[in-house]
Amino acid sequence: MPASVNAMLTPPKPQSLRTQVAIIGGGPAGLLLSHLLANAGITSVIIERQTAAHVMERIRAGVLEQGSVDILTNYEKYQK
Ligand SMILES: Cc1cc2nc3c(=O)[nH]c(=O)nc-3n(C[C@H](O)[C@H](O)[C@H](O)COP(=O)(O)OP(=O)(O)OC[C@H]3O[C@@H](n4cnc5c(N)ncnc54)[C@H](O)[C@@H]3O)c2cc1C
Repeated sequence: MPASVNAMLTPPKPQSLRTQVAIIGGGPAGLLLSHLLANAGITSVIIERQTAAHVMERIRAGVLEQGSVDILTNYEKYQK
């Protein structure tokens, strides 16, 4: 397994950090919110109770629903 993948699967050592927003849950909603905040210059940290391996291996979506497409399309328009 490549070292970069190993690093992702290794739980981080407990440490303190400062952030503007804490997002509970690393599902699609939490990941998109973190991305939108980062684009707006707002730092965030995602707190996920499952392991990285669990999150990456579980099935979450095969197709994008219209609601998700609308959010991303509107966001893109807003950015221009
Ligand atoms: C088999 C399957 C197939 C699907 N296919 C599609 C599809 O094709 N298209 C589509 O649009 N949608 C699909 N969905 C639905 C889609 O997966 C959900 O709509 C989407 O995952 C919801 O995202 P979410 O971030 O709101 O919640 P979740 O994906 O449930 O993420 C929430 C996260 O928060 C974490 N969490 C919860 N409580 C805590 C806590 N107290 N502390 C820390 N972490 C916490 C959970 O571990 C989880 O990782 C599918 C769902 C399943 C199960």
